[in-house]
Amino acid sequence: MASNSTLPSPMGTFTHEKYAKELQFIEEMTKNADQVQQNVLAEILTQNAETEYLKGFNLCGATNRDIFKSKIPAVEYEDLQPLIRRIADGDGSPILCAQPISEFTISTGTSGSEAKLIPTTKEELDRRKLLLALVKAVMNMYVKGQDKGKALYFLFTKSTRKTQAGILARFVFTSIIHTFFKTQSYNPYTSPYEAIDCADLFQSMYTQMLCGLYEREHVLRVGSTFASNLLRSIKFLQLNWQQLTHDIRTGSLNPKVTDPSIRECMTRILRPDPNLADFIVQECAKDNWEGIISKIWPNTKYLDAIVTGAMAQYVPTLDHYSGGLPIVSTNYASSECFFAINLNPMCMPSEISYTIMPNMAYFEFFPHDPNSLELTPSESVNLVNVEIGKEYEIVITTYAGLYRYRVGDILRVTGFHNSAPQFQFVRRKNVLLSIDNEKTKEPELQAAVENASQLLHEFNTNVIEYTSNADITTIPGHYVIYLELLEKDSNNLPGDKVLDQCCLAMEDSLDSEYRRCRVADNSIGPLEIRVVKNGTFEELMDYAISNGASMSQYKVPRCVSSKPIVDLLNSRVVSKHFSQSLPYWTSEQRL
Ligand code: AMP
Repeated sequence: MASNSTLPSPMGTFTHEKYAKELQFIEEMTKNADQVQQNVLAEILTQNAETEYLKGFNLCGATNRDIFKSKIPAVEYEDLQPLIRRIADGDGSPILCAQPISEFTISTGTSGSEAKLIPTTKEELDRRKLLLALVKAVMNMYVKGQDKGKALYFLFTKSTRKTQAGILARFVFTSIIHTFFKTQSYNPYTSPYEAIDCADLFQSMYTQMLCGLYEREHVLRVGSTFASNLLRSIKFLQLNWQQLTHDIRTGSLNPKVTDPSIRECMTRILRPDPNLADFIVQECAKDNWEGIISKIWPNTKYLDAIVTGAMAQYVPTLDHYSGGLPIVSTNYASSECFFAINLNPMCMPSEISYTIMPNMAYFEFFPHDPNSLELTPSESVNLVNVEIGKEYEIVITTYAGLYRYRVGDILRVTGFHNSAPQFQFVRRKNVLLSIDNEKTKEPELQAAVENASQLLHEFNTNVIEYTSNADITTIPGHYVIYLELLEKDSNNLPGDKVLDQCCLAMEDSLDSEYRRCRVADNSIGPLEIRVVKNGTFEELMDYAISNGASMSQYKVPRCVSSKPIVDLLNSRVVSKHFSQSLPYWTSEQRL
């Protein structure tokens, strides 16, 4: 259990001089949320009135919300893809946005298709920088003396790419690191810039961990963007502590770190420190790693990582490794827009809510019935008119050329700060399985099972039922697919080898982000098939009905996470199979 406590630090008392300007800004924006929203929409529509997109809907200069909503359709990424393609291929006319597109951010979160390129402008990047400054100001109110120490915060970049027309395309954090971090005079992290900006994951993580170990006494927070990344870093320490402590003892650098700029900068950091090496060996050699974070970095006040949405599954494991330190999730953001900040960051993970910053974009909300998987777009609700307890799908209109764009996230209103609503992140629309960045939806899982089934046909075997589970008891986590098979010919059964191949066939048909995580990042382990006894899925239905489900409405859940159901499935497993090799993936995707 996380032992988080809520520290009294009400917004609005500006005794925190250093960040008074930022805190004042939060108050102003949230107090005047509706007016700010009207202004934001008017500004976006005026700036972009001459774009091909807006001209196509005959807005005729109107900036009024009702006219905007009645004339402009709500869209998803796929609807804009042909226009975005033209921009990426070099059409410099104002298609979506009047300002020049300075770069594309690559999103993983929006659809099942390949790379999603989100147009971004210089001004939009500045807006994001502002939101990060607000986050810092809020954290400073809750944790005193943050500036006096450092953060062991695992940050990673990906190589920057270019579209055919030469426009930059990079992941949003790579963009932030390249544009802001590099230019800062003071590095608040234990990781040197050279280690963060190294596209080779092993070399980057190794160096960041090594520097974090050297500075163990100065570390005040330990984190990474998402909880899954933080856990991977702990796993990394488990696998590499012997080499790391060898380097600390001798003041030398693992020869596997070959990047010249890392090697160069490490000459200024490395020093032989046998006492430190002995201490780390003593801690890491223990079988029980409970509380390891607090032991190695004794001044850590909190963990800094997103633990909402799909990441909530990692809270117990983080609690285990930290010995119950508070876990702080500071913001809610995407490649399309940085939406919101957490104004009560020391709360329990289950209570995390994000306050939408009304200056970041124009926001609308489609009411969503939590009992239905389908989202029927109805009339949208304005930011200040959402109701506490209700769920909504968030829709954004950005300065950079997205109009009434359905991000794909479902949020629940938990309260208001002044007149700006606060939301709990509920889930991504239709996502079944997620271990890291990938978001696997039901049709993709279905296609993967069908792909695997092809291999079983020559053995006269059919998949009669299936379900899945994101198993995070292993690090990295992996997908487990439970299959109930109908084997019609006992003389021609599919053997272990065929079922291993089925695992790989499934992985090959999952989307490119899954395969990237699996191959390039190694953040997802080999997919596992567990074949269950015949009759298991009927038992599953009986279980659901005995717990109140309606027989006539019962559908096999395509993903299960509740312990009794997973236990039931596991108790009926007759064989287990894993992918024996990596799925197909190439970084040479067309941009
Ligand atoms: P991407 O565009 O690839 O950065 O993915 C953005 C998506 O990540 C969002 O639309 C959310 O689905 C998810 N996400 C971002 N921040 C959070 C958060 N604080 N809690 C839960 N999910 C988040």
